[in-house]
Amino acid sequence: MTTLVGLDLAGRAVLVAGGGPVAARRAATLLDGGAAVTVVAPQLCEDLVDRVLADEVVWHRRPVEQSDLDGVWFVHAATDDSAVNAEVCRWATDRRVWSVCASGASLGTARTPASTRHAGLTVAVTSVGDPDPARAARVRDQLAGTLTMGTLDLRHHRRGSGSRGRVILIGGGPGAADLMTVRARRALFEADVVVTDRLGPTSILDSLPGDVEVIDVGKAPGRHAATQHEINAILIDQSGRGRVVARLKGGDPFLFGRGGEEQQALAAHGIPVEVVPGVTSALSAPLAAGIPVTHRGTVASVHVTHGHRQLDQSALDVVVRRHATLVVLMGVGRLASHVDQLLAAGSDPLVPVAIVEDATLPTQRVTRAPLRQIVEAAAARGVKAPAVVVVGAVADPSLLAAAPVDAATLDAAAST
Ligand code: SAH
Repeated sequence: MTTLVGLDLAGRAVLVAGGGPVAARRAATLLDGGAAVTVVAPQLCEDLVDRVLADEVVWHRRPVEQSDLDGVWFVHAATDDSAVNAEVCRWATDRRVWSVCASGASLGTARTPASTRHAGLTVAVTSVGDPDPARAARVRDQLAGTLTMGTLDLRHHRRGSGSRGRVILIGGGPGAADLMTVRARRALFEADVVVTDRLGPTSILDSLPGDVEVIDVGKAPGRHAATQHEINAILIDQSGRGRVVARLKGGDPFLFGRGGEEQQALAAHGIPVEVVPGVTSALSAPLAAGIPVTHRGTVASVHVTHGHRQLDQSALDVVVRRHATLVVLMGVGRLASHVDQLLAAGSDPLVPVAIVEDATLPTQRVTRAPLRQIVEAAAARGVKAPAVVVVGAVADPSLLAAAPVDAATLDAAAST
C-alpha cells in the first residue's frame, strides 16, 4: 500500500544518485519543489551539466557511497545499475530516510507520482498496489485534460493569511460561448467574482457556481453603463478584499477593450493582473459573415479602427487606395457621416460594404450594399450595435462564391 503525501522539500537536502536522463528528470522535479539537491555520479548528462553550471545542484564526481546519505531527508536512486540503486535504498531504509528507486519502485520506500500542476494545485496519481507508472501517467494526462477544459470549479476555499486578490482580464470572444478559449473558461471558473459587460459570451454566466458574484457593468436599456473610472474602482475594491476577480470582456481585451487602462489602474495599486487573449470581433465577425479580411490576389492588409468619431486619414486612405480592408468597430451610430467622408475623399461609390450585427450569435444578421447605398440599406433593416462594418473588395458577396484563382498563378504573382 502507498499513502500519498505532499512533502515540503524546500531548502531540505536531497540526494540523487546517478547522472543520466532519469536522474535529471528527478532532479528537475525536486528543484521545482525548492529542494537542495546533491547529485553523486561519475558522469552527467547534458541537462545535469547545465544545472551544475547554473549552480542549481551540487555535484560529486564519483560513485555514490553510504556517507552521501548523511543529513539528507530524501533519496532518489537513479543510477543505471539496479544493484547500486537497491543498495542505496537499503542504506536509506537503515537510516529511516525515504527513498525512490528508479529501477523498481518496490526496492524503495516511496514512489514518485505522475503529477500535473494547475491553477495553484498539484494533482498527483500513483498506484496503490503493484507499481504501474504508465497507467498512472495516462490517468494523469486525462485529468490534466479535464482540468484545462475549464469546466471545474477551481476557486480557493481557504486563503493563506495575507493572501492577495488578483484580477484576470479575460477576452471572451465575440459572443458564442464556444468561441471562448479554453484558458478563458478556466480563468472564469477560478473567479470568486465576475465583472462583466453586455458584449461577449454572457450566456456562460448562467453556468457559473451559484455563489459566484456577478457584477454587470455594461449598458442595459434604461440604465447607465458604469464609467471606466467606476469599473476600475470595482476591480480594485474586489481584488483588495483578497478575491480572484474575472473581468470578462467581449472579443480581445486589448483591442478597443480598455484592457490596457484597467491593467494600468490595477498595476498602480500593486494588484497582480493576468491577461487572457480573446477572439476579436474585428476578425471573427467578418469571418462569421463569410468575409475573409485578407484574400490572396484581392487584398493583403486589414486596418481596424473605431467609429466613435470621424474616420482618420489613414482609415480613409485604405479605402480610397484600395490597399487594405477597413474594419470599423462601434461604427453604426456614425455610419452616414463615415460614408460621406469616404465619398468626399474619393472612394469608389461601388466599393462593397458589409455590416455584421450580433456576429456568431443566433441573432447574427448581415447587411450588404455598395458604399453609396449602405446607409439606406442599414436604415431599412434597422441595423444596430453591436455590429462590425467591413469596407473593401473582400465584402463583395460573390468573392468566395467565384471559382478560385489558380493557386499556382497566385504563387507566381506573389513571387514577382
Ligand atoms: N474588444 C472587443 C471590441 C470592443 S468594442 C473585440 O475585440 O471584439 C465594441 C464593439 O465591438 C462593438 O461596438 C462592435 O463593433 C464590436 N463587436 C463586439 N462583439 C460583436 C459581435 N458579436 N458582433 C458584431 N460586432 C461586435
